[in-house]
Amino acid sequence: MNHYDYIIVGSGIAGLYVALLAIKHGSVLILTKGSIDDCNTKYAQGGIAVAMGEDDSPELHFRDTVAAADGLCDAVGVRILTDEAAECLADLIKFGIPFDTLNGEITLTREAAHSVPRVIHAGGDATGEHIEVTLSRQVRSSPAKVLEYCLATKILVDNGRAKGVRALDCRTELVEEYSCQFLILATGGVGRLFKYTTNSDVVTGDGVALAFEAGAEISDMEFFQFHPTVLRLPGVAPFLISEAVRGEGGILRNVEGRRFMPDYNPKAELASRDVVARSIVYEMMKTGSDRVFLDVTHLPPRLITTRFPHIYRFCLEHGLDITKVLIPVAPAAHYLMGGVKVNNWGETNITGLFAAGETACTGVHGANRLASNSLLESVVFGKRVVQRTETTERASPAPAPVIAGEAKQYHFLPDREPLSDMPPLSLPNLQALMWDKVGIIRSADGLTEAAKILATWWLSADKEKEGTSFLAPSDKPSYELNNLVLCARLMTEAALLREESRGAHFRTDFPQPSPEWQQHIIFRRRERAPLKI
Ligand SMILES: Cc1cc2nc3c(=O)[nH]c(=O)nc-3n(C[C@H](O)[C@H](O)[C@H](O)COP(=O)(O)OP(=O)(O)OC[C@H]3O[C@@H](n4cnc5c(N)ncnc54)[C@H](O)[C@@H]3O)c2cc1C
Repeated sequence: MNHYDYIIVGSGIAGLYVALLAIKHGSVLILTKGSIDDCNTKYAQGGIAVAMGEDDSPELHFRDTVAAADGLCDAVGVRILTDEAAECLADLIKFGIPFDTLNGEITLTREAAHSVPRVIHAGGDATGEHIEVTLSRQVRSSPAKVLEYCLATKILVDNGRAKGVRALDCRTELVEEYSCQFLILATGGVGRLFKYTTNSDVVTGDGVALAFEAGAEISDMEFFQFHPTVLRLPGVAPFLISEAVRGEGGILRNVEGRRFMPDYNPKAELASRDVVARSIVYEMMKTGSDRVFLDVTHLPPRLITTRFPHIYRFCLEHGLDITKVLIPVAPAAHYLMGGVKVNNWGETNITGLFAAGETACTGVHGANRLASNSLLESVVFGKRVVQRTETTERASPAPAPVIAGEAKQYHFLPDREPLSDMPPLSLPNLQALMWDKVGIIRSADGLTEAAKILATWWLSADKEKEGTSFLAPSDKPSYELNNLVLCARLMTEAALLREESRGAHFRTDFPQPSPEWQQHIIFRRRERAPLKI
């Protein structure tokens, strides 16, 4: 078995940034299941939030982040996020990311729920592409070894310590095991769970599922963010129309051409994402349409073409000159706030196992992520992972994770009576179920129905894994589908338990937040060691 100091699974911003820091401390292997740049990172448009404007400060950024999180975030983590942002930005500049400047100063834009302009960007609205291209070029010319088209399928745990990973070479179908001192999951979120999504095909919750199976704690899975404004054109894959478009003055209109956001919230188009997404859904229901419109025709055309060149070009290629016509939009699945529970150093409850980026739940987003805080979280906590590996004695167990703040509830996935009459398991059926029953607007009835269907699918998948069926996962699609079903179960059961509405989690039967629910829901595999509650 080949051995490395660090094995990193994933090659988005979190994986590549961690790799570039880790190469100074030991040998590095990156496993990634597509080509190096298959990830969500390259689709990021808006940018990275960093408090650097004259009227801004880490304190103000801290306060905006806590306000968006809706009473659930880890305040210590948020303090780290906002205080250490500038240092990580300096790293990104050193690695060569060409952030946009004006007269030699980095330019800042404003996004919803940020009280001042604080979002830095590159190539106008092509921030993620510049990050991915630049970091992957750096990694390719570094001593780090990269194995593309290599799917991590199992975390190898020995005596309570993560020892390595099993992986499937998707091209040769050979299975190989690799051992390491430190295993870092940087596998991104779970956006492919839903019928309408902004996420890349590779974002199938693998890190969450692998960590759960290995005995790691999984937290806050009910908190999933839906982006309000995603292009809705027949035959065109969902394409994000950045928050920054509303930040620059874009107005939302219903199919009748009427501006509606002031009816729902005093902040109108700049209200938080969950409020805007829900308002759009209500407006679509009222008008019997599957879309609303984003209007930028009143803005100077030059502002649109220079500030949003990527969006402008994409829409133009699909027949829409957005300087002249309205943009049809609707909400779509976007970002997982929950994930593999880590402490402020990226450590999970399994010694030697770390998580960074969207797959990790650091607690900084709480119930709702502030726009442009996720790229930042990936680098701030990614850096801390590497710092931690340098301060931990290599062979000694890592201390138990401590997440400051609110109370926690620990749960196992419940057994549910299998259903006999239900749709067969397939990716489209799973995505439709999640969109309809576990989406933007939830209720006990829909969640219960989804929970039963998912449990039945899971039972059959579990049997397959035990080898009692010829359908045991053996290739990339079947592994991914298994991982998605497990993540769907974690999300649905958590959403059912949380009898309140908070942040991105909204239930019609419990429409208000409840002080009793100012706590995190954490799942862990049943047959693991007794829990300390
Ligand atoms: C359209 C869009 C726009 C966005 N805009 C912004 C923005 O402006 N600002 C912001 O802060 N955030 C934004 N976000 C969110 C942000 O882009 C992501 O949260 C962030 O890029 C996640 O980075 P990551 O490295 O954790 O994961 P990703 O970039 O998704 O990378 C995950 C990697 O893991 C690999 N992988 C997964 N499973 C396995 C496995 N089993 N084996 C091997 N490899 C595996 C994948 O192939 C991929 O390389 C946006 C997201 C989207 C989708």
